[in-house]
Amino acid sequence: MASTTDYKIDFTNFYNIINNELKSTPTTRAAINPSTLAPLPAVPVSTKADVDAAVSAAKAAFPSWRDTPIEKRAALLNTFADAIMANFMDFASLLALEGKPPTAAQFEVDFAVKHLKGTAQLRLEDEVIEDNEEKLTKIRYTPLGVGVGIVPFNYPFFLGLGKMGPAVLAGNAFIWKPSPYTPNTALKLVELAAKIFPPGVVQALSGEEDLGPWLTAHPDIRKISFTGSTPTGKKVMAACASTLKRVTLELGGNDAAIVCDDVNLDEVVPKVALGCFNNAGQVCVDIKRLFVHEKIYDQFLAKMVEVVKTFKFGGSEDTEGAFFPPVQNAMQFEKVKELFTSIEKEGLKPVIGGEVEAEAGAKKGYYFKPTIIDNPPENSRIVQEEPFGPIVPVVKWVGGEDEVVRMANNTDMGLGASVWSKDLEKAERIARRLEAGSLWINTHQDLAPNVPFGGFKQSGMGHDWGLIGLKGWCNTQSLMTRRSGGMF
Ligand code: NAD
Repeated sequence: MASTTDYKIDFTNFYNIINNELKSTPTTRAAINPSTLAPLPAVPVSTKADVDAAVSAAKAAFPSWRDTPIEKRAALLNTFADAIMANFMDFASLLALEGKPPTAAQFEVDFAVKHLKGTAQLRLEDEVIEDNEEKLTKIRYTPLGVGVGIVPFNYPFFLGLGKMGPAVLAGNAFIWKPSPYTPNTALKLVELAAKIFPPGVVQALSGEEDLGPWLTAHPDIRKISFTGSTPTGKKVMAACASTLKRVTLELGGNDAAIVCDDVNLDEVVPKVALGCFNNAGQVCVDIKRLFVHEKIYDQFLAKMVEVVKTFKFGGSEDTEGAFFPPVQNAMQFEKVKELFTSIEKEGLKPVIGGEVEAEAGAKKGYYFKPTIIDNPPENSRIVQEEPFGPIVPVVKWVGGEDEVVRMANNTDMGLGASVWSKDLEKAERIARRLEAGSLWINTHQDLAPNVPFGGFKQSGMGHDWGLIGLKGWCNTQSLMTRRSGGMF
């Protein structure tokens, strides 16, 4: 049996992983550390030939991986999880360079590994739907073939593993396509996976923006599991139509949190504030619209400002335990600044924040101070749009339950939503009327490997995680044995 030292890898040079071989490309590129603006180590720029090579290797690997017993597949996933832990600090330090303070990067690695281990426990059993003298009929779930995970920049480690784990457990061969903003940790994870899984089962390709479209168009890929923005998700779905690939789309969110008038502010405000500003607003299920009952609105807002003032922002070089990162890249930073300018033009005032730290001379990098907008109108951009940055609208809830449910559902998005109250019956009554894929009571963003995750409306289709997520990596197949009688 291999010891964990056998799984130590070097973190200096970065390669595509094709058929368990480390492959360089003629051209390379470098992502940027958003806190120092320094380039990260260079990564490959895949060509179409690299895509073809990875897909052929995956296709060749698929039949025997499909026929490998699930207990063996799960055992290899567990070995992989242990191997990641054997390189924990190297992974966390590299993830920090991709845009998080070390504390947050360590949290992501730890969370992702636990999630992977939880995934390895899932089992899709055959379902017997009739078993009598005439016939035995079962439903089976069989893997699709070659699958691709297209991953965004905000949680490159967790979200990538969150696709790879279920895909591989279900018996698919998996190709990981990281975001061009955060390719480094993905390539190292798959380099490590190549020491554990058979050739072609787990591969990684890094590249420029043409790589995703090459993958969505490829005739031998059976599924794309995409996490990213809603506009890109629509392009992915359109591209997959020509080959009828299966698609799972985990897209943008504009999550509502509804705060009832009976909450204990000391307990609830810090949790809600964390739910708003986690990863500087760059989480699909961050709270992006906060509806607070008019009776407690003023106290809630004042307390939230106090809590947010204590939040420590920092980057890869932070040594003081900061948990909140800069905006991850220049493109997103410009979007956040543009949204804030339009908020100002709409005459809306922040009760805290609104400054770009770099411009204030405090820090290099894409830092934007956590910003709270006091009671903006329902049709303002900050209420209607997902900022994907640290700007949060707090809206006064005036009226009864019908009104807050109407406001919360007044969006094209439907990823997550939460209700906060001491009265759990009331909270569930309100929650059950909300149009979102994940509902939480007295918590938000609470994710688990055995709980399906997916969006309503333009927040996506299909699910990651849980048995439903695993089924998304499978064909549904019926198997009937006739025991007596004629046909039909
Ligand atoms: P994005 O849509 O710009 O990019 C996501 C990925 O798609 C990247 O790897 C990118 O290279 C690739 N891509 C871009 N164009 C493509 C194309 N035409 N075909 C195939 N692939 C293509 O998203 P982003 O800016 O990296 O991430 C932020 C967005 O992701 C936010 O809207 C956020 O809410 C959403 N998100 C959703 C979830 C979820 O689970 N629902 C989780 C995290 C982030």
